[in-house]
Amino acid sequence: MSNLRKTALFLLLLMFAIPIGQALAAELVVYSARKEHLIKPLFEAYTQETGTEITYVTDKAGPLLQRLKAEGKNTRADLLITVDAGNLWHAANEGVLQKVDSNVLNANVPANLRDPNNNWFGLSLRARTIVYSTERVTPEELSTYEALGDDVWNKRLLLRTSKKVYNQSLVAMLIAEHGEKKAAEIVESWVANLAAAPFSNDTKTMEAILAGQGDVAIVNTYYFGRLLKKNPDLKLALYWPNQNSTGVHVNVSGAGVTKYAKNSEAAIKFLEWLSSEKAQNLFADANMEYPVNPNVEAHEYVKAWGTFKASDQNLADAGALQSDAIKLMDRAGYR
Ligand code: FE
Repeated sequence: MSNLRKTALFLLLLMFAIPIGQALAAELVVYSARKEHLIKPLFEAYTQETGTEITYVTDKAGPLLQRLKAEGKNTRADLLITVDAGNLWHAANEGVLQKVDSNVLNANVPANLRDPNNNWFGLSLRARTIVYSTERVTPEELSTYEALGDDVWNKRLLLRTSKKVYNQSLVAMLIAEHGEKKAAEIVESWVANLAAAPFSNDTKTMEAILAGQGDVAIVNTYYFGRLLKKNPDLKLALYWPNQNSTGVHVNVSGAGVTKYAKNSEAAIKFLEWLSSEKAQNLFADANMEYPVNPNVEAHEYVKAWGTFKASDQNLADAGALQSDAIKLMDRAGYR
């Protein structure tokens, strides 16, 4: 081999060697609206398995999105983890996420729980369902979200504030299912049945049922789980509505690779790992949620609340129809 050829071969090897070296020393920066105690064990497990170091910042969804926008190309964030499809949709709409084409993610995350444009992927699922007083309500009296507007629930219904994205997404999904006119009628009928002004969070809403202020409400399953863990004799139970029609309203926490990620390949690998069978329980169980991956079962504790048919409406609608939902709730007098 000539010296020239040797040099060329050496340079060729060097070209391959550098990317491999980088892959070994991979690191990731994550911005997370999911709380630290829920994500830290996952990051540690991933670092242990792959050697990839993960640094992270946690904050609320709004400020993290503003920060990503302000940082633009200079952001250090490779991955954004946030809660509610409404927030994920906003991040995509603001252009801070990038499209990820991954067969692994497409196989692990059902189509309705991810962005049709592949900018974000649901990673854990929560149901926003009916909760009722076991002292004053029997499950036979309940049927659908829509029926919470019936006269029988007058001055018995409690709701969380319409300012929270969870209810904005819920109403956006009602618009997607029924159209704006019917959705408005449903929300108006709820407002007419309210037993008290809307509460600031799901836990307070359930505590108000326990205090006798009302008998039924709509909450995320994991908040019910937290109360039940504190008090196994809780005089509340979950009800799965719309089982003969649209199914229970579900939402996700999820993630997307940032548009200007410095380590996008490593970020995609981590995202794929989060959707995998081995990580799904770590991700979901920490917050008493359901895995999105259909091959993974929920924790026994969560399974004890019963099985249900979930809505298969694409969650991107929760974002696309969010501003319509906010206006609709305002017109209906839902504060
Ligand atoms: Fe929450």
